[in-house]
Amino acid sequence: MTTDFDIIIVGAGMVGSALACALAPSGARIGLLERELPPSFDPAQPPDLRVSAINYASIELLSRLGAWPRVLEKRACPFRQLAVWEKLELPFSRGEFDSRFNRTCFDAKQVDQAQLGYIIENRLIQLALLEQLEQYPNIQLITRNPLVQADFGQQPPRLTLEDGTTLIAPLVVGSDGANSRIRQWAQIGQFADAYAQHALLATVEIEPPQQDITWQAFTPTGPLAFLPLADVGGKSYASLVWYHQAQQGPELLGMPDGEFLQAAQTTFPRELPPLKALVARGSFPLVKRHALNYVKPGVALVGDAAHTINPLAGQGVNLGFKDVASLARILLEARQHGEGWGTLEVLQRYERERHTANQLMMNLMDLFYYGFSNSIAPIKLLRNLGLAAASLAKPAQRPVIAYALGLRDSLPLPAFLRERVPNLI
Ligand SMILES: Cc1cc2nc3c(=O)[nH]c(=O)nc-3n(C[C@H](O)[C@H](O)[C@H](O)COP(=O)(O)OP(=O)(O)OC[C@H]3O[C@@H](n4cnc5c(N)ncnc54)[C@H](O)[C@@H]3O)c2cc1C
Repeated sequence: MTTDFDIIIVGAGMVGSALACALAPSGARIGLLERELPPSFDPAQPPDLRVSAINYASIELLSRLGAWPRVLEKRACPFRQLAVWEKLELPFSRGEFDSRFNRTCFDAKQVDQAQLGYIIENRLIQLALLEQLEQYPNIQLITRNPLVQADFGQQPPRLTLEDGTTLIAPLVVGSDGANSRIRQWAQIGQFADAYAQHALLATVEIEPPQQDITWQAFTPTGPLAFLPLADVGGKSYASLVWYHQAQQGPELLGMPDGEFLQAAQTTFPRELPPLKALVARGSFPLVKRHALNYVKPGVALVGDAAHTINPLAGQGVNLGFKDVASLARILLEARQHGEGWGTLEVLQRYERERHTANQLMMNLMDLFYYGFSNSIAPIKLLRNLGLAAASLAKPAQRPVIAYALGLRDSLPLPAFLRERVPNLI
């Protein structure tokens, strides 16, 4: 059997489902493939391990797609403050003075907003988008029939499912995550570099009340972060991010729960509220990947299939949602002008908009990560002065923070770079 679509989206994670939602109102025939649908939501469930800090730009996209109210009716935790600091170890530094000197804090009030963003379980965003898709008869969700082959050597590309069904569409989008098979089948190369450190995530029950601050502390052993989570059944929760050396992983994962909580309580800064119970933990290798191209005739990559980034400032899915907004806009405009979705000319408009922008954010995260992971005295002094200076300006006046929070579309660039990447501005 052969089925024709206008577009096939492989992977219905947060990014692929968002793209399907963005294209569905156009009436395009959309095939959406997902190998494993998420379990349904039960309000009594404690929070999942995988959560994301969602910024303004992503909230705006999810709202336009109609999925945002569905997220909020499940659960989400707003954060109103964001703090970053580093333990200052300069020769002239002393006690309390240090932490006040180099701690920088941003407050939603400074940008006239009720909150700076939300921490949300990935599964709940995905479920909200999938629910939103149910109203569109032009979307066919294909599950339990795995994709076994993709042929991009001919136009239009052809996908083969396990039961022998052939799917054809002028455009196949790979939103199938970091180890994208679509990227591999399309023979799109990538740059990949593993960081020496891994990130341990832990969902913990904390002493109430629910927190409204997310913070990140840079320590000599790596960053430590605290993300507040929504209350469940009168209990308060948080997600901890503990950067550690790869070889420490088995020890941290193998500790009895009580011992782990004790270790976290002593390793994290004193701002960490008392920990009551461990809900879940997992360690994730950190790999920076960037596809050399996002497009080829008949194929485009979005989200983690195209790029994975150090989760330091929680940018991964926020960049993926920006890919979605860009690709959907370009495809819908192309449709209005009678241009084919699979043509290189149309797809390269998307690549030009997103490839350099994503690369800049990846470079910026590396600058922070490596900049804060060394103890060379002049660099330490510079970064602490930088943090102190940052704390004196409003968030909206701090271009990098405003960009990370999704308050502005692009990073300010010097003129010579603006000329080279005109679509970024
Ligand atoms: C430790 C850590 C912390 C993070 N914190 C943040 C944060 O705070 N904020 C943030 O913005 N980002 C964060 N990220 C990044 C974020 O989790 C990812 O960017 C995001 O999940 C990517 O979404 P995606 O939909 O592109 O890919 P995925 O979430 O990987 O989804 C891919 C989907 O494709 C499906 N699939 C795969 N192969 C196939 C196939 N062959 N056929 C059919 N379906 C297929 C999968 O089942 C899955 O549903 C973090 C990442 C890590 C590792």
